[in-house]
Amino acid sequence: MFQFDNSYARLPDRFYASVYPEPVEGPVLLKFNEALAAELKIEADLTDPKRLAAMLAGNVVPQGAAPIAMAYAGHQFGSFVPQLGDGRAILLGEVVDASGRRRDIQLKGSGPTPFSRRGDGRAALGPVLREYIFSEAMHALGIRATRALAAVATGEPVYRERVEPGAIFVRVAASHVRIGTFQFFAARGDNEAIRLLADYVIGRHYPELEGTEKPYLALLRAVALAQADLVARWLGIGFVHGVMNTDNMTISGETIDFGPCALLDEYDPMKVFSSIDHMGRYAYRNQPGIAQWNIARLAECLLPLLDEDQDKAVDEANAVLKEFGEHFQARWLEVFRAKIGLFRQEEGDGDLVQALLGAMHEGQADFTLAFRRLCDAAEGSDEAFLSGFSEPEKAREWLATWRERLAKEPQSDEVRAAAMRTVNPAVIPRNHRIEEAIVAATAGDMQPFERLLAALERPYEDIAEFADFTVPPKPEERVMKTFCGT
Ligand code: AMP
Ligand code: MG
Repeated sequence: MFQFDNSYARLPDRFYASVYPEPVEGPVLLKFNEALAAELKIEADLTDPKRLAAMLAGNVVPQGAAPIAMAYAGHQFGSFVPQLGDGRAILLGEVVDASGRRRDIQLKGSGPTPFSRRGDGRAALGPVLREYIFSEAMHALGIRATRALAAVATGEPVYRERVEPGAIFVRVAASHVRIGTFQFFAARGDNEAIRLLADYVIGRHYPELEGTEKPYLALLRAVALAQADLVARWLGIGFVHGVMNTDNMTISGETIDFGPCALLDEYDPMKVFSSIDHMGRYAYRNQPGIAQWNIARLAECLLPLLDEDQDKAVDEANAVLKEFGEHFQARWLEVFRAKIGLFRQEEGDGDLVQALLGAMHEGQADFTLAFRRLCDAAEGSDEAFLSGFSEPEKAREWLATWRERLAKEPQSDEVRAAAMRTVNPAVIPRNHRIEEAIVAATAGDMQPFERLLAALERPYEDIAEFADFTVPPKPEERVMKTFCGT
């Protein structure tokens, strides 16, 4: 079914543990992403869903697979854990997709591995569907993320706070190499492995750096810029990752490990959803600073490769960290400039954006709706936009300042509004609708999940059939906390 071409499994033994998925009782295919399968050149026999389910649940290991659990370490909420690793995930193998890109096929929730510690190696249906929805929603929103190939029910219970149906998530990633993968070897003083891993990720993700004068410094810089870009885009849609530990940050620049992530409803820069983030470490506004902190941890791992003179290496790494900050600022401004419909750059644009965000915070405006309705305001209808603020006066004043700024640009209202609608989504995976889909699926009804997924495929369009997904939660529907899969 898969045309595997595995490369990570050819790295030395200490990079992973070879381990087979543990078969499950009654695999049932809940969802299969046919479009992604085609992109990955997977030949899936949809007329035999039983066999497909058995394969995607790990009961039948497909030909050519070299199943491994990857070794990694990581800083979890700031504390270093020298060994984490794939405790409930198994990399089946890699395929080369239709456009020549190498992609990992991973089963998540496929049973214990040598890295499971006290965990059961399993996943519950709720978190699996959450990750499915978010992966595909992010992709449709134009934000780099790991993808969802399938969700399979296992027919077995998993024991969390209560008994829940078990499921397996089939994840597709540019690779699963994380900052924590480098940390695993750095913690062991294994410089040879760090160099092998660095060469591997350069070859796989940043081939243009091969053979350049300082490839490892260039690698650090490339990862830093990719992450700065990613986090700027996250902020642009109100995304709160929730667990930005160094093991949940990729080298490729894809969003990964959607555990307790969520999108803002009303705008609050200090918003935290995750039930385990007591200190607000990973709050919406803290994400760029945390990403930079994580890149600093990557830099530490790479120091031995940067220069024999370690003082010089530290200086070079620090310069990259500084560049991260500048790049993030520039990308953030670019993202938000587009959101408020500016085509040109001018001094003071950042203040204009901040003033809007300030009014949104004060007026408890829904993040997504405010920007989407601003597209209508660009064409002269302010009512809907203003009605989203508890105190519309500030917002009205802001509109006036905004219009003075717009007057300096030649574009017509129609052109501006159309451009704004391509960056300000109408439909996002709102927490209460995800919850609704999960509750229904747990009771055996996949219809709400299917409908939500369909709506999320074209987030920048106004589709009458899906208008209900644009509505923020009523006070009693609001999801205050989200939970990890563990
Ligand atoms: P995560 O919270 O998904 O980023 O995972 C952090 C670490 O805990 C990783 O090493 C996971 O493999 C491990 N882990 C999470 N859930 C389980 C589980 N149910 N069984 C075994 N290991 C787990
Ligand atoms: Mg993780």
